[in-house]
Amino acid sequence: MRAFVSFLVLPFLFLLAGCGDLISQDAGKRGAIAPILTSDEAFDDQTFAKPQEARVTHIDLDLAMDFDAKTIAGTATLDVLAADGASEIVLDSNGLRVSGVTDEAGNALSFELGETVEGKGEPLTIQLPAQKLERGADLAQGVLAPTHRITVEYVSAPQAEALQWLSPEQTAGGEHPFLFSQGQAINNRTWIPTQDSPGIRQTWEATISAPEPLKVVMSGVLQGDPAPKDGNRRDFRFVMNNAVPPYLIAIAAGNIEFSELGPRSGVWAEPEVIEAAAQEVGDTEAMIDAGIALFGDYRWGRYDMIVLPPAFPYGGMENPVMTFLTPTFIAGDRSNNGLVAHELAHSWSGNLTTYSSWRDGWLNEGVTSYFENRIVEEVYGKQRAEQEYALSYAGLVGGIDDIGADSPSTAMRTPDAISPFATRGFAIYDKGTVFLRTVENIIGREEFDAWLTQWFDSHAFEPVTSEMFLADLREKLIGDDAELENRLMLDEWVYGTGLPENAWAPDSEAFAEVDLAVAAYAAGAALPDVDVWSGWTAAEQRRFLEELPQELSGEQLTALDASLGLSQTENNEVLFLWLEAALRNEYDPAVAQAESFLARVGRNKFVSPLFRALNDTQWGKPIAQRIYAQTRSSYHAYTRGNVDETLGFEEPAQTALTD
Ligand SMILES: [Zn+2]
Repeated sequence: MRAFVSFLVLPFLFLLAGCGDLISQDAGKRGAIAPILTSDEAFDDQTFAKPQEARVTHIDLDLAMDFDAKTIAGTATLDVLAADGASEIVLDSNGLRVSGVTDEAGNALSFELGETVEGKGEPLTIQLPAQKLERGADLAQGVLAPTHRITVEYVSAPQAEALQWLSPEQTAGGEHPFLFSQGQAINNRTWIPTQDSPGIRQTWEATISAPEPLKVVMSGVLQGDPAPKDGNRRDFRFVMNNAVPPYLIAIAAGNIEFSELGPRSGVWAEPEVIEAAAQEVGDTEAMIDAGIALFGDYRWGRYDMIVLPPAFPYGGMENPVMTFLTPTFIAGDRSNNGLVAHELAHSWSGNLTTYSSWRDGWLNEGVTSYFENRIVEEVYGKQRAEQEYALSYAGLVGGIDDIGADSPSTAMRTPDAISPFATRGFAIYDKGTVFLRTVENIIGREEFDAWLTQWFDSHAFEPVTSEMFLADLREKLIGDDAELENRLMLDEWVYGTGLPENAWAPDSEAFAEVDLAVAAYAAGAALPDVDVWSGWTAAEQRRFLEELPQELSGEQLTALDASLGLSQTENNEVLFLWLEAALRNEYDPAVAQAESFLARVGRNKFVSPLFRALNDTQWGKPIAQRIYAQTRSSYHAYTRGNVDETLGFEEPAQTALTD
């Protein structure tokens, strides 16, 4: 439990936008400079930066990708706002090879790369020019001007953790290489020398050169057509005028094409995938409308997506104006696109208002999971939303059961005593969802929605903390109503472990039919009728498989597969649950399919648990080692780190900050 400490905004870093236009995305304009929070809760221990002395406000990248060397090389020109008397700025780097730093006039500036801290990289400390920039014109327009502009010349390392370079064989087309980045949590310092902290928001622009015929997309707005240049290459130019946390700068390149979905949205994918992708995300415009109706304006202009090759380690990543998606959510019936609702909802929670420290993961992911469920309710109806809530609630209860209700990893706000990445996914996503659902039900939907809308609005493009969230809730919805304060149990939810007793349980009718079938199976292995099974929603099929007994015999597994066609399903969520149950129970006939699935898919949510299931038995251990020897190099660093840990490799894993 913590007392509320008011946060301070340092006066020299603070600006109320006089004329800065936060919404328009036309090139050349700079948005307002976001505040830096200085409360204890806002402190980010994963950055080397000292933003109160000197901070980056804008990044201008000029980079070329080299698929043979697996590097990105060029320059990053940074606008810096330094306090009076500050002589240096500290940036984050992780493996960058820096060849020089210059001031605006091209004079060399001295710099030093400090010692590497495992998992965090190294500080890049640059001596600032003695002379500050003169920016009278900017100041007259009400825009706080940078005091310095410096250019870092560098190249990324081939093993940069943010970047995954795919061979043609890892793509659907099989002819061209592919590149994508994953910045969250602290990976972007492996390819961008900046202050890599969620509380230090920056606007950015980029010119990126790529070889023909590859196309480049970024989490910024594409400016015009690509410009041809020497060597069979083209320059792509992007601008992001809204200040974002730097982990949201993202890039992808490949043989991709675009399919328009509506006036605000579209999807990119390889030609072999584009039709299925566009069909699957066909409800996007309706989802945007639902999001706006629920919690206020969509402030990013366009909402486009790219469906990546299956090596992508996450379900989705909420990169602004360009959500990155795994192809494994494509089921043909839009049954898994709660994922799209989730990434879209981040346009409010996470991207518009962002935690200042990684310890407040729930402020991005819990709020977003709640918002996702509200969009699903608007677009697909109450029953589907309630079923998905029930799955989330069951995941939370199961997760707490597994590690114990007093484990610090079950607190929504990660305690100082453990790593900021040690909080379990269910405590960030599912507990956050259940918390907000509980508050909504106690306060009343209409009043709570109005409050959440104003929360996003008043902190748009700014960092936030748990204590700010709770203080605002108390000020505007509770006042001095002690009885209401007691019923809400706010501090117990955010800072306590386990599941508070006022948790809003899902409607017990949500899965009434499925739960009867589960009970019948447990009692005498009675299988659901195949017509009943195929008439179930994906959520209902998942519920049935998740609630099956842990131990199943070979005969039972054979009967389940034969009558329900589990190994033939088109839905990867269902297939995954089948494979997990089969491997957990040493079922030989499933090994070949598991092997090809693990060779094709790099999504951590699927890959890690399957290797865990194998590794848990003497039967499975050698199978896991054999498969992993073949597949390890094709996985992203995040997935690889998790499986390494399971199978006894050395590199540490990271907590999932996105699904
Ligand atoms: Zn998320």
